[in-house]
Amino acid sequence: MEVPSLFTNFFAVNNPDSPPARQKTKLRELEHRFWQEHLPGDDDDHSTAISSLAIVTGLTKAQVSRISIAFATLADLPELKALQQKLYHLDLSRLITISNELAGINPDNLAGADAILTEYLTATSPNQILPSPASIGRKIKEIRDLLDDARATGSRGTQDDSSFGVTFSPDGTAEIGASVDAVDGHIINDAVTQHAKKNDLTYGEAFSDILRNNIQVKVVLNLYTAKDLANAPVWASGIGWLDAKTGTFWSEKANKEQDMDAAAKISTDKHDPPPALRDALIGRDGTCRFPGCSVPALKTQADHRIPYEEGGETCLGGIGCLCQHHHNMKTDGRVTYLLDPFSGIIVWLMGDGTWAVSEPNGPLNPKNARWAQTVAQHRARHHKRWVKEDAK
Ligand SMILES: [Zn+2]
Repeated sequence: MEVPSLFTNFFAVNNPDSPPARQKTKLRELEHRFWQEHLPGDDDDHSTAISSLAIVTGLTKAQVSRISIAFATLADLPELKALQQKLYHLDLSRLITISNELAGINPDNLAGADAILTEYLTATSPNQILPSPASIGRKIKEIRDLLDDARATGSRGTQDDSSFGVTFSPDGTAEIGASVDAVDGHIINDAVTQHAKKNDLTYGEAFSDILRNNIQVKVVLNLYTAKDLANAPVWASGIGWLDAKTGTFWSEKANKEQDMDAAAKISTDKHDPPPALRDALIGRDGTCRFPGCSVPALKTQADHRIPYEEGGETCLGGIGCLCQHHHNMKTDGRVTYLLDPFSGIIVWLMGDGTWAVSEPNGPLNPKNARWAQTVAQHRARHHKRWVKEDAK
């Protein structure tokens, strides 16, 4: 492995200056080689081989089977496989997530998914935090929405009759389950939570009350999209990029527009950022900025990198999204960070002297702006193709 310096990009899990990162990389490499060597090939009696491996590894048959499928999926992704065999940055849980999320993808789209996923899992900053399995899962959902069948992504209108059910319990209660699109889920959750808190009800009581008495609860949902881009995808905090159908459905309902370029330039001498600046901050950060934390930006606080009382400015370059827990850690002085006002990249300095880089996750950062462009171009191309076929 080459020796990275401050000016090369690598994931924190591959940090050559960190003894635990070096040891864990070695362990992941050994684990990877172990399974490569022992998993059954195409010609073997698969079921027997999996059972034998379960016996000698102490794992369950189901666990060995999942690992076997994960390696078979990786074999179908030659670019990602080459990267993994160079870095050994992906552990079993990430490899299993990848195979679970890619299950059933149209084989014609595997090469496209391989290219995008490999780019996503290549570091673009020094000592960058590796995406979590949940983030990788979300990325694959976005890739499938771009390349694959919308039914694979829980798009609006793809649920069937089994998407609603009521189960009655002997204790006299009933459980209600409904499968809806993610935006609807957020709206219902917000309305129920608000109504419960305001009227001192349980969430269940609040849910019934809203339905039975037709109660109106005001819920604000901010959607982000590039106005200067035809067919641009739509992003929502706590969900991420919406699939084409869901994004169009909800953005057509928007009743107020806000220019995020103007909002990003707001600066105030007050402590709290005005709502427009907060919206720009949410759009830049996407989630809490602490390494590995996935609390949606909507539920975080705007932290002044330099405390307001010490002259810290209330502008995009001076604040970052932190959840309550990580805000407390920062206030207690257990961690601190540096913020690049132009890229939104944050360098975390941990109490033990180690450091790590967190890239912003929201739709307004350059990487996501490029993704929006890719999606828009892809949608435009496909739209043209449909038009052509219609004309035949
Ligand atoms: Zn956090």
